[in-house]
Parts: sequence; C-alpha cells; structure tokens
Amino acid sequence: MIKKIVEQPEIYSVYIPLPNNPLKNLNCYVMKTDAGNLVVDTGFNQPECFEALTEGLRELNVDMNNTTLFLTHIHSDHTGLIERIRTEKTRVIMGAKDYNYFSRSLSGNVWKLFNQRFIEEGFPESDVYAQEKVNPAVVYALKNLFKAIPINDGESFFIGKYEFECVLTPGHTPGHTCLYLKNEKIMFLGDHVLFDISPNITCWPYVKDSLNDYLTSLDKIATYDIRVALPGHRKNEMDVYERIAQLKKHHAERIESTLDIVKKKEYQNAYEIAGQLKWSLRGKTWAECPIQQKWFAVGETMSHLDYLVERNRIVRIKDQNIFVYRAK
Ligand SMILES: [Zn+2]
Repeated sequence: MIKKIVEQPEIYSVYIPLPNNPLKNLNCYVMKTDAGNLVVDTGFNQPECFEALTEGLRELNVDMNNTTLFLTHIHSDHTGLIERIRTEKTRVIMGAKDYNYFSRSLSGNVWKLFNQRFIEEGFPESDVYAQEKVNPAVVYALKNLFKAIPINDGESFFIGKYEFECVLTPGHTPGHTCLYLKNEKIMFLGDHVLFDISPNITCWPYVKDSLNDYLTSLDKIATYDIRVALPGHRKNEMDVYERIAQLKKHHAERIESTLDIVKKKEYQNAYEIAGQLKWSLRGKTWAECPIQQKWFAVGETMSHLDYLVERNRIVRIKDQNIFVYRAK
C-alpha cells in the first residue's frame, strides 16, 4: 500500500505491516528524483514485510541500481530486508555510530550484556531467556555485517541537487540518525519522534545514560526548521514541535514518579519499581503482563533509574548480586 506524502519533491510512504507487533506498521519512505531514488528503512526480514516492500517498490518503479538506501538505526524492523532488496549498485548509507555498534553486537556480546543487566536488576532469569526466544529484535536480527557507507553527524550526501544532512540523535538506539532534506525542510525521523506512541528508551550496554542522550537529541531536532515530519511508525497528525514538548514532559513526569517509588520504600530493584509505574497494559495487571512487554517496561525503567543515578538523586547498591536503589 503506497501513499503520496509530498508532491514536490515526490515522496511516498510504503505501508509495511509488522505482524503481531504493537508498533503495527513501519513507514518505508521513497523519494523519486530524476537523479535517482531514496529509500528510508525496510521492515523485518519476514515474508509479510518483504512482500509489502517489494510490491511498493515495484508499483513506484524503483530501480534499486539507481537508489540510495538510508537506514535510520540498527533495529531489525528498520534494517531487516537490506540484503534482500539491495543490488550490487545500491548505495547503502547508515549513521557511523549505529553501524559500528551493530558490528560490535554481532560478536554476541551486546545481547549477553543486556541479559546480564536485566538479571542484575531483578528480572527473573528464566523469563530473561524465555523473552529472548520471542523478542523480534533478536529473532529477526541480521546475522552478518552488511556493507554500508558509515556517515557522521552533520555530514551530507546528495542525490542530484538534493542535499540530505545526517543528524545524529542518540537515545532510542546508541547511534540513531535522522535525515534532513535541507532545502525542502523535510525530516525523516526514524523512531526518534513517534506521534501516537512514545519511542522505547532502554539501557544499552556501553551507554551510560540513554535517557539523557534522548532528551538532548529531542532538543537538537527542535532546533531544525521542519515543514514535513516523517515518523518511522504509524501516523503523524500533529505538529512536530508540540510532540517534542509532549515527549519531554512525559519523561520529566516519569522521572519524578520513578523517584517517588524509590523514596517510598528503600532497596527495591528495577523489576519491582517497574511493576509500580503506570503502563498501558490493556486492562492487564503487571503480574498478567506478557514477559515481552515487561522486558520493554523494565528496560525503560532502568533508563530512568540510570538518569537519576547519574544526577546523584538516587544511589544504586549491589545486594547479593542484585542492584537495589535508595534515594539520596
Ligand atoms: Zn526502533
């Protein structure tokens, strides 16, 4: 299913369904110019995604030999189909920081560290390994390093007369990168700003304070003059600057409620703290919540706890191999 988003330059979105995923769909963007095409993000390496993407590209007459494929971040719903749609001549470009992080994650180390941290934060060990078997980020992860041109913050690439600036926006992933079509003031947002869900922020191995990175990146993107804001998932029916303010407010409130829970009772672990925060669980209680959702919720809670620890508002203490928290 394709939809024209911008008349000039010609930009379309291709609806990529994400089966059994609360994100519902990925927006793959296609820009057509006389000098070649731009494709932004791909979908999971799953048959439903592959079918929708190839069908969309065919309908739009996209020649992958004359196309730049830009990947906003490492998540497998954005990168999963690169190897299946690229040709020898496709120019694949990705932010250097996420590209290097992905290369490092292939050694298996990153997932091991993720698991270890969740266990240390009180997540039941058997649930950590059970969720790994169903987590789409793991199940559909690319197994090999793909060839790409890594690009740094502030660097540009061109398609004919069109200049695309890469804007490093870490937070959702360690090296998430938005793409800014300069003269037209169009921003491809990836998962940095989503409009009807809030992007997941978690505690990445080797990253000290993902939430602070994210909040700083929200301020950064707000300094750009944006006429059209194109999110990686679902719809955008709202002003981007207003949405940025909402997301900042959401996290500010969340930081305070996390602190309140820590203050209420000393020496709780992140798993216990997450269970007391408010989540949209569609009528389910925390105990009934599927492991997968708990994993995201606890990851998000850990990023808020990291933020509070970094600002000396709470202390993290190791108690019999588990981290617990108390207010300063
Ligand atoms: Zn993502």
